[in-house]
Amino acid sequence: MDIQVNQISKIYGSGENRVTALNQAAMTIRAGDFLSIMGPSGSGKSTLLHIISGLDRPTSGTVTYGSTDIHHGTDRELSAFRRQKIGFIFQQFNLLPVLTARENIIMPLLLDRQKPDEARVQQLAKLLGLTDRLDHLPHELSGGQQQRVAIARALIANPDVIFADEPTGNLDSRSGGEVMAMLCGIQKKLGKTLVVITHDSRIADMAGRRFSIVDGELSEVTAS
Ligand code: ADP
Ligand code: ADP
Repeated sequence: MDIQVNQISKIYGSGENRVTALNQAAMTIRAGDFLSIMGPSGSGKSTLLHIISGLDRPTSGTVTYGSTDIHHGTDRELSAFRRQKIGFIFQQFNLLPVLTARENIIMPLLLDRQKPDEARVQQLAKLLGLTDRLDHLPHELSGGQQQRVAIARALIANPDVIFADEPTGNLDSRSGGEVMAMLCGIQKKLGKTLVVITHDSRIADMAGRRFSIVDGELSEVTAS
């Protein structure tokens, strides 16, 4: 399922406080692409990610997944779409501190009233090197392990697309490198579409397609 981003603009505030966070951003993301979006702080990366993934609405423009215009529907339809089609990975991991790794991983299924499949949990735990950590609480895990739990949680409902917002921003370079290597490996193995936002050029360079955003202007970086 390709994602078509058509001339997305986002304006915050009005009058003197008016900010054009995104100006006519356009891109086509093909099924199975691994792409990165790099830009400095305040350039519009999070705004773009939120609009492509349906967490926020554009001021103008459309985002289509296959033939579905995701911003055309109601908030309820959009959140159902997100739950089924999209996995999210955040800089802060966003694990629930009172739940074990296993419970965090299956949470998206419970929220969608689906029955957790233990074989699937085990498969993801194995891919992510978490097999002997499933019964630990987040605070008993290293940062790298917590982010790997978050990756398993992003994958558990078998979404087509994974969005990662500064996934290594809270990790030292060694565990950040390990997390990215696993994420890349899984992206290839499972054939997912992966969109990574980063301000780290080493991470951006791992992607098959690289985009840059400056002051709300998005462009694709062509190989030199
Ligand atoms: P980045 O993720 O690259 O740091 P953002 O997308 O968060 O950039 O922000 C882009 C611009 O939009 C910035 O100038 C920021 O201050 C502004 N902005 C972001 N969110 C809001 C908001 N909710 N209200 C007003 N301005 C915002
Ligand atoms: P990673 O490669 O995932 O970043 P580390 O090398 O940082 O892992 O950690 C090694 C081991 O130390 C881990 O298996 C983890 O169980 C434990 N550990 C690391 N940080 C913490 C922490 N803050 N609290 C409890 N245990 C930790």
